[in-house]
Amino acid sequence: MTQLKPLQNYIDGRWCVSQASDHLDVINPATAEVLAQVPLSATAEVNQAVQSAAIAFQTWRRMPPTQRIQPLFRLKMLLEEHLEDLAQTITRECGKTLDESRGELRRAIENVEVACGIPMMMQGTTLEDIATGIDEMMIRQPLGVTAVIAPFNFPGMIPFWFMPYALACGNTCVIKPSEKVPLTMHQVFELLAQANFPKGVINLVNGAKEVVDVLLEHPIVRSISFVGSTPVARYIYSRAAANGKRVQCQGGAKNPVIILPDADMEMTTRITADSAFGCAGQRCLAASLAITVGEAKQTYTEAIAEAAANRVVGYGLETGVQMGPVITPQSRQRIEQIIAQGAKEGATVLVDGRSPCIAGYERGNFIRPTILQNVQPDSEIAKTEIFGPVLGLIHLETIEAAIEFVNSGQYGNMACLFTNSGAAARKFRYEAEVGNIGINIGVAAPMAFFPFSGWKDSFFGDLHGQGQHAVEFFTQTKVVIERWNREDWSRKF
Ligand code: NAD
Repeated sequence: MTQLKPLQNYIDGRWCVSQASDHLDVINPATAEVLAQVPLSATAEVNQAVQSAAIAFQTWRRMPPTQRIQPLFRLKMLLEEHLEDLAQTITRECGKTLDESRGELRRAIENVEVACGIPMMMQGTTLEDIATGIDEMMIRQPLGVTAVIAPFNFPGMIPFWFMPYALACGNTCVIKPSEKVPLTMHQVFELLAQANFPKGVINLVNGAKEVVDVLLEHPIVRSISFVGSTPVARYIYSRAAANGKRVQCQGGAKNPVIILPDADMEMTTRITADSAFGCAGQRCLAASLAITVGEAKQTYTEAIAEAAANRVVGYGLETGVQMGPVITPQSRQRIEQIIAQGAKEGATVLVDGRSPCIAGYERGNFIRPTILQNVQPDSEIAKTEIFGPVLGLIHLETIEAAIEFVNSGQYGNMACLFTNSGAAARKFRYEAEVGNIGINIGVAAPMAFFPFSGWKDSFFGDLHGQGQHAVEFFTQTKVVIERWNREDWSRKF
């Protein structure tokens, strides 16, 4: 293992050297350079962070919401100021292009901005005279200590689907980033440290499964917000629920896009290529199956094959690069095996991106865009989340058959339709059993003021991340019914 100074945790308002006995290398997926070492923190460190958050909660929840959002305003300005540095870090540890890194940071900042509206968003409701002289009100109060567990693919954005809302509502928070990409959150915490949050309000604990398990079992932790793969989401959902916690778990996906013959083929090709190959397909909203209907087959197949073959693959920090590597050599190997399995199941490898040579980056985890043609709707490759730059093509004769195929899937994260017909769009929007719908959109990523609405095996829970859902998730309702004796009042005054 290369000797580098290990990353620290941020607990109780200060940076702490971890007591971990084990560390992992953080590796640039394009160059294989070791960037840092991340500690697999010990139980005691998680306990310390939770304890500090519990103490901080007692004063933080009493601070008026108008004051609680002041550090969030400062955080927004700091994120804007350091956006370029942060984007470079994301690209170095995660592999995506600089533009993609900038894009995810913009989404992070949007969530901070929306959470600054908490004095409006957190309001309750009141009804006077539910009976004569009796009033009833519903108020929202924070939960206490909340925890956020993040995946590797959006290190700068995903914690922001939760953290700004948790804090603005008066909760305190412990964040565990992915051990594969801990540098971005480390850098974000350097900014959080300057934003004047009281000590203990926001804490960072690095690590992997063991840290998660301590959070899941800890009696003081009131809620878990998780994003990652479906098997882990299912595990976390069931453990957290068994321990009486509030929990929201966003899982994996297999996103289909349907292309009708009347679609604008130039736009459809450009947008679906970005969706399938952007971030090297490592997006939970990446298009991974394109279903052509009727005569769309021939034109779309030719156009998307050309777009895939022409995509510029390389190191995301370099100008002109349109797609970076996948996260680890194991991911690359797994994706290549899935492509081979698809071919065994009868699909044709129309554009083969396996084992490319990227000059100067021979040690990187690169795969070029790959297109599999004639994917059978009931084959394994039509069901498996690949999480790489691979687009499978399925052909069906009618929109009804395409929607039926969409609805037969295990996941329900996103589905898109490309068409010029309003009636077809309405039918699709109405009938598709997925939580995020795009009409002539390739990555239907909800803005910060809408919930990130995965369904089926893409989401476990009921309240999603972002916007008003997040406010509801991070608050508990209290109903108060009040009666005051009028005679008391007249006697005194
Ligand atoms: P992952 O499930 O391997 O890891 C996610 C987090 O869980 C990490 O912090 C990791 O340390 C922790 N973890 C891993 N295994 C664990 C275990 N057994 N017990 C407890 N904790 C564990 O996911 P990943 O590979 O980092 O991210 C990719 C996955 O995330 C894909 O499936 C992708 O679709 C999904 N994702 C979903 C969304 C969404 O909004 N639905 C968004 C982004 C990514």
